[in-house]
Amino acid sequence: MPIDIHQFPCLSDNYGFLIRDRAEGAVATIDTPDPDAINAALDEKGWRLTHILNTHWHADHAGGNLALKEKWGCRIIGPAGEAAKIPGIDRRVGEDDVVELGATTATVRDTPGHTSGHIIYHFADDGAAFVGDTIFAMGCGRLFEGTPDQMWTSLSKIAAMPPETKLYCAHEYTQANAAFALSVDPHNEDLRRRAEEVDRLRAAGEPTVPTNVAIELKTNPFLRAEDSGLQAAIDMSGADAVSVFAETRRRKDQF
Ligand code: ZN
Ligand code: FE
Repeated sequence: MPIDIHQFPCLSDNYGFLIRDRAEGAVATIDTPDPDAINAALDEKGWRLTHILNTHWHADHAGGNLALKEKWGCRIIGPAGEAAKIPGIDRRVGEDDVVELGATTATVRDTPGHTSGHIIYHFADDGAAFVGDTIFAMGCGRLFEGTPDQMWTSLSKIAAMPPETKLYCAHEYTQANAAFALSVDPHNEDLRRRAEEVDRLRAAGEPTVPTNVAIELKTNPFLRAEDSGLQAAIDMSGADAVSVFAETRRRKDQF
């Protein structure tokens, strides 16, 4: 079923997303980074909030849950794996659970790594996935609670989505991610072109989110652990994907 997506910047580098199911008018916010900004966006669109869909427990994702629930009486859906840390949670969901928003549905995928219970919401009929802090444009979430093995499996679920799937990442980290990506994948022409395009967009004050699966497969070093060029650039030719991913993530943490 068709949805409208309204994206807006909030906090220092987060994005807020409102999703409206056109058939029945149900409206969800993906995470609750800033209740005031979310209420202002709802006002601007003339929409009434019916659902909160949380990706993980961090304050810039679930910190506004209770304020919004108090104002709107909305239903809060969040990760079963960290439900105790999701304020006001009404429904706990995990791998392959289906979430209804009016006549629209999203499938939940477990993507542990950034946090142990992180989930993402895939609106397959609309070709959109809300990925929280699992994947960013040319980057991925820091491994606060999970292992490289878990995160590689989580990212592989995103890599396997249809290539045109739009990825709505929770942060505008793209320019810094591009600089790092070039350091581990210096001969990647697609990456060079994209880094230049990102510089142009940011200079013009434009968002670089959403990205899509096809672009990330070509330019995101955290999806390219099996690429021989990237492996050679970090002296890991022939190593297994999880080891290459782990080394790439370690380098990013120190970049
Ligand atoms: Zn986070
Ligand atoms: Fe975050």
